[in-house]
Amino acid sequence: MTGSWVRPVHPTVAARAATRGATVFGGGAALLSHAFPHELGDDVVDLSDLDLDRVDLPLVGAMVTIAALAVDREICLGWPAIAQAAAVTANPEVRRVASIGGTIAARIPTADLPAALCAHGARIEIVDDDGARWIAVEDYLETAFVPGLITRVDFGPPALGGYRRLAGRPGPAPAIAAVAAVDRGDRIELRAGAVADRPLRFPGGAMPPVASLRDDHRASAAYRHRVLGVLAAELHAELRASGGDE
Ligand SMILES: Cc1cc2nc3c(=O)[nH]c(=O)nc-3n(C[C@H](O)[C@H](O)[C@H](O)COP(=O)(O)OP(=O)(O)OC[C@H]3O[C@@H](n4cnc5c(N)ncnc54)[C@H](O)[C@@H]3O)c2cc1C
Repeated sequence: MTGSWVRPVHPTVAARAATRGATVFGGGAALLSHAFPHELGDDVVDLSDLDLDRVDLPLVGAMVTIAALAVDREICLGWPAIAQAAAVTANPEVRRVASIGGTIAARIPTADLPAALCAHGARIEIVDDDGARWIAVEDYLETAFVPGLITRVDFGPPALGGYRRLAGRPGPAPAIAAVAAVDRGDRIELRAGAVADRPLRFPGGAMPPVASLRDDHRASAAYRHRVLGVLAAELHAELRASGGDE
């Protein structure tokens, strides 16, 4: 056997291994599933000993699980859009292992958390051979390849918000369309999820154009557009009712 599986205790050591081509192993949910293109290479760098599973809001370690995000009382109260997106992600077994860092890095188009994180203006800390830097989750997802490890996520200030999705069947299933809404004080920030390869903005509060939406065997772009309109209207009404839009 020629491969290696290492569990460093320092992020820079892990980042160095990743730079040399080792597969970064977060929770392993995407890496070990045939449903996704992610694959384990011969050499693996496992992040589980890096002490990245702490919640110290607004900072969250990259190895905090989706399950933990969904039930954390402070997140549910202060960042409800993120907690709600976590609660509807996959199934309990996946949520127990999948990490927030792996979920962002996996760039799965139907993923639930990214839209909520982008609506909050969340940022991630990236560690690579040159050290650590922070970038917006939105910029990370808009850039085709960003080398380095995601070590922490900064949710930004707490804010009222919500997350709604529609899937093709009841129970755990990938979303056909989803909307995250966050009250950023002077405006309601909206992001559309699962309708393109990354979360889409609502430019100036208007709907993303039909032409920018995915059109596939699961739903047409026109259908997704209508669903986004309904979900966004529901979230607007909910936030208005809780005093978030006046
Ligand atoms: C059955 C099933 C159903 C699912 N349903 C949903 C769903 O409904 N909604 C949804 O949103 N998602 C869904 N998913 C996707 C799931 O949420 C992701 O697989 C999971 O979030 C990935 O996180 P992870 O920590 O397991 O990443 P891993 O599998 O460990 O890694 C995923 C990718 O990210 C890289 N990576 C991991 N951690 C880091 C890091 N810290 N820094 C840099 N790169 C890193 C890995 O190298 C790999 O390329 C489903 C998955 C499964 C298996």
